[in-house]
Amino acid sequence: MPETAVTPPFPRPGWLLTQNREMKAIGVWNWTLPAWAGRLSDGRTYNTCPSAGICRHVCYARNGTYLWPTARRRHHANLAFVLDDLAGWEDAMTAELGARRYHSAWIRVHDSGDFFTDDYLRAWLRICRARPGHTFYAYTKEVTRFRRLVEPNPPPNLRWVYSYGGTQDHLLDPAVDRVADVFPDEAAIAAAGWSSQEASDLLAVIGPRLVGIPANRIPRYLRTLAGRRFSHWQADEDTHRHAHPARGAAPAGTAKRAATATGETGAAR
Ligand code: SF4
Repeated sequence: MPETAVTPPFPRPGWLLTQNREMKAIGVWNWTLPAWAGRLSDGRTYNTCPSAGICRHVCYARNGTYLWPTARRRHHANLAFVLDDLAGWEDAMTAELGARRYHSAWIRVHDSGDFFTDDYLRAWLRICRARPGHTFYAYTKEVTRFRRLVEPNPPPNLRWVYSYGGTQDHLLDPAVDRVADVFPDEAAIAAAGWSSQEASDLLAVIGPRLVGIPANRIPRYLRTLAGRRFSHWQADEDTHRHAHPARGAAPAGTAKRAATATGETGAAR
């Protein structure tokens, strides 16, 4: 009997890493997941940013080109690969990094999404160790996960910066940790005595430890930001949530969505 060809809902991407003009200029390749919470076309729900806080209200990756159907399909395919076959994805990523086009390149882990489970983070740690000729870097809001799994013995070729605007901000110590905060503009960064990464994204991990990021010039996001820094906005939100626990709770279904996609219970949010 002839076999019937079945088109998989999430075709495996030809290349896992991509590069836009801005990243190309600084020699960086990028791995992307869909941002925050959503639903795959097969009905599964996900939350790739379980420790996102106020950042989700002004998330650059929930706007503009990230919402184009081809981009969303691509990001969903990336996530589906990770969720459906983590070991296969790890093998594919490790193998791909051997390609000539990545010679001496930097790899940015996520321009959206985060290290949403322990297993996924461990896979990246193994990839870093398997590819010592590359330097990997990431912004993350997964503070407790990094404290547990990375900080005690980080791969020498992995650099990271903790980014404000998440539910674990209160665990960060700017006197010790490398931290990134979003400011309304460059003037606000300079006034605070922080160092802008605007000239190159790599400054977030190789420049001064207090990293200022100017807010995206998206009018509705700027209105929502209302002149605040992410760290201050999140602190206000935390204070409000403690005063009014029910009103500060995550949107209905968020925790369930996170658990469904990641296989974890008790999501950080
Ligand atoms: S952690 Fe980053 S990608 Fe996720 S919701 Fe916040 S800003 Fe968006």
